[in-house]
Amino acid sequence: MRIILFGPPGVGKGTQAKILSRELGIVHIASGDILRAAIANGTGLGKKAKTFMDRGELVPDDVVIGIIQERLKEADAGDGFILDGFPRTLPQAEALDKVFKKSGIKVDKVVSMEVDRDILLKRLTSRRVCRSCGAIFNLSVDKIEDSKCPKCGGELYQRDDDREETILRRFEVYINQTKPVKNFYALKKLLVEVDGIGEIRDVTKRLNAALRP
Ligand code: AMP
Repeated sequence: MRIILFGPPGVGKGTQAKILSRELGIVHIASGDILRAAIANGTGLGKKAKTFMDRGELVPDDVVIGIIQERLKEADAGDGFILDGFPRTLPQAEALDKVFKKSGIKVDKVVSMEVDRDILLKRLTSRRVCRSCGAIFNLSVDKIEDSKCPKCGGELYQRDDDREETILRRFEVYINQTKPVKNFYALKKLLVEVDGIGEIRDVTKRLNAALRP
């Protein structure tokens, strides 16, 4: 299957993409994770991306499009993928469309996860991520002791862009630059909307139902 997971910051794309990737046996490709790995490795790309990410702005289209194009060429993406956080602008969606047309690839579904803004703000300010295994937790839901990952014991940290003022900027960017992408896929009859509120396993069930042909 080839799936694009779409939605505002904090809607749960990363959490659900990890589960679906495991269940469906397809690779999870997250533009944000690739950029954070570049930052952690101190590459030129990472340094450039960090200045945008820390302000809650989008990394320029040409940079992100290049990264995703390269990632999609890797062998593990040949059997299907779940794209998370890309495309985030109309030029990105159009570029992806071109790449797919050229290689005869068809996207099965674009799933848009929907959650109210107030809930998103609360989720994002209490989000913590494991530096070792990448698992995502929520301080108001999960039992977290000593800032240690309950899965692997790694160190939990708060993403630099999960501070309140940056989150508010990310919401603005979502409305102005990312939301139009929804209509792009609605016009192609690929879009399905899924309620992202509730327990993680309930949302996964809804996503699985939405992904059935
Ligand atoms: P995420 O982990 O998806 O929330 O992304 C974190 C940050 O990475 C975003 O706020 C952007 O600064 C940057 N980013 C991730 N994906 C993209 C993209 N497709 N286009 C531009 N910037 C991106």
